[in-house]
Amino acid sequence: MDSKTDFLSECHQQTRVIHTGYEPDTDIVQPIHLSTTFQREVPEKVGGYTRSGNPNRDILEKKLAMLEQGHEAVAFSSGMAAINAVLEVTLKAGDHVIFPDDCYHGTRALLKNIFSKKNIAVTEVDMTETGNVASAILPATRLIWMESPSNPQLKVTDIEALATLAKKRNILTACDSTFATPLFQHPLQLGVDLVMHSTTKFLGGHSDILGGVVITRHAGDLASLLRLYQNTAGAVPSPFDCWLLNRSLSTFVLRVTKQADNAMEVSSFLSRHPAIEKVYYPGLPTHLNHEVAKRQMRGGFGGVLSILVKGEQQDAIAFIKRLQIVMHATSLGGVESLIEHRRSAEGKMPVSPDNLLRISVGIEHPEDLIRDFTSALKFA
Ligand SMILES: *Cc1c(COP(=O)(O)O)cnc(C)c1O
Repeated sequence: MDSKTDFLSECHQQTRVIHTGYEPDTDIVQPIHLSTTFQREVPEKVGGYTRSGNPNRDILEKKLAMLEQGHEAVAFSSGMAAINAVLEVTLKAGDHVIFPDDCYHGTRALLKNIFSKKNIAVTEVDMTETGNVASAILPATRLIWMESPSNPQLKVTDIEALATLAKKRNILTACDSTFATPLFQHPLQLGVDLVMHSTTKFLGGHSDILGGVVITRHAGDLASLLRLYQNTAGAVPSPFDCWLLNRSLSTFVLRVTKQADNAMEVSSFLSRHPAIEKVYYPGLPTHLNHEVAKRQMRGGFGGVLSILVKGEQQDAIAFIKRLQIVMHATSLGGVESLIEHRRSAEGKMPVSPDNLLRISVGIEHPEDLIRDFTSALKFA
């Protein structure tokens, strides 16, 4: 180990994410390597062909593995491509998978519309109670997919308890940790086999790149299978997207710290407002699994909350229309605050309550956000 690696290993996440991966020769910032092919004479430097490996992607994967304290990060062209890769490499016909009743709607759609047609049984359970998962386990159960906090109801799963339960039964575990980010939660340290992020969200942070990643705890079969799947199925991120994401990661800790602080302020404010029926945010003491969240999340609870507006769907939508700076759009994790009527976005399988709004809190000044919410709620 050279002295820089030694020094870095003792540094904080915020420092390490800037200095991990790239060894500058003369440039301080890595150039974008657009070439799809590389000279055979230097195979140790590159994968030879960009689908198999690209200098921008290699550095991105090193940074992401470091952030999750994992062994290997495998980057994909979207969060969904990352989820699909996990399901493809872990499941075969005849297997059974358990997933959470509240989760990203794309995950549910992929399992129910695509994987269940390949003779893979899927069971949806409320994972806020570990016992519910225990009773859903079958002899054919191969994978438990978690998402904590979940999208959009911010349900919190006891990750360590589930990982322990699964290990006893020889079942693999994976956790979609997109909402928590590697700043506040480390599922690999809690015992899961794989952690997944939609890097489109907080890691990207600027609503301008799609991406996903799966990180393994160990070297071994799972890591090799994911690497094989990445290369052969080919849903890889472009060099430019990797470069943008590397750039985003330098400010990741600063941005997400601020987003979580703002989300806590907005949550507290809205939870006291008479026009709001309920606020879902794991940082609030009134949250159903606040104690579990406090135990397994460190330093913050993320930048997303959901609310139930008193009244019907039309009241919730009218409230959105009165907001000035908080914009009505899907997605989350960017520097700008967004709000969305979730049920309208869920397509043919809507599951969210019709007065539920999901809020992704940005890095604006919290007083400005609260002023925007205050005036939009005045006529509620
Ligand atoms: C957005 C999201 C995904 C899907 O990621 P894409 O990058 O949009 O494909 C998966 N899980 C969660 C929790 C998300 O928020």
